[in-house]
Amino acid sequence: MDIGAHVSTAGGIDKAIGRAVEIGAEAVQVFASSPRAWAFKPPTDQAVGAFKQGASKAKLGPTVFHAVYLVALGAPDEALLLKSMESLINYMQTAERLGASGVIFHPASHRGAGYEAVEAQMVGAVHQVLKSAPGKVWLALENSAGMGDHIGSRFEELGRLVKAINHPRIRVCLDTQHAWAANYDVASPRGLDETLKQFDKAIGLKLLAAVHANDSKTERGSGVDRHENIGEGTIGADGFSTILAHPALGKVPFYLEVPGFDNSGPDKKNIDILTRLRKEAGAAR
Ligand SMILES: [Zn+2]
Ligand SMILES: [Zn+2]
Repeated sequence: MDIGAHVSTAGGIDKAIGRAVEIGAEAVQVFASSPRAWAFKPPTDQAVGAFKQGASKAKLGPTVFHAVYLVALGAPDEALLLKSMESLINYMQTAERLGASGVIFHPASHRGAGYEAVEAQMVGAVHQVLKSAPGKVWLALENSAGMGDHIGSRFEELGRLVKAINHPRIRVCLDTQHAWAANYDVASPRGLDETLKQFDKAIGLKLLAAVHANDSKTERGSGVDRHENIGEGTIGADGFSTILAHPALGKVPFYLEVPGFDNSGPDKKNIDILTRLRKEAGAAR
């Protein structure tokens, strides 16, 4: 698997490539705009060209976008729903221009209404997004830690949503920290095997498009979304050794979303730990 990282696009989307190369990332995840605002300005053709050229020259693996945090397809508020859809459409269209593989988004909260109450709205919204952004780019739902009525902490719920959407371009992203917080054991060989069996049964491993490789500040089952540097958290280096060795994950790109050892985001040290563990596990890039 490629060991990638979320990197900043400050100064232009093409600037992400140099940052990825600098830390030794083999693939990149980026935001296409500020993740805490709705404002969206499409990158220029020049920036898109420079990105594609740089990614190819650096032999980077699949590029993915992470959607803005405000996206909430289960929101009861019509204006918020429309903004969420518009934001995802912009991201999907930009991903297509950039030659990116897909866009990952959080199913977000049902706002106390319960999953059943928002399912139909979410399915309709996802279909509208995919229709408005034709092409090859996939759209992935990310599993949640289960905080604040967030949808998709259980694989069964995520699988139910995926089946209800029933679209060839729908995928799933597995965040190791979120799964751990949602009480899935991803750290021990038997636990990970069981977790991936459950994922396969409820969702289907063939739909797993990306892994967010994050250690956890909180205990397993905490329900709290707090990422930690690899080896510094409760999943630990041994846990990641197990994860990197699992054959079911061998061809899935990994993206770090860790705080960084100097708190400036995914860094060379985190990448180096994962690449060393991958080598020790006998897994290939
Ligand atoms: Zn994540
Ligand atoms: Zn998270």
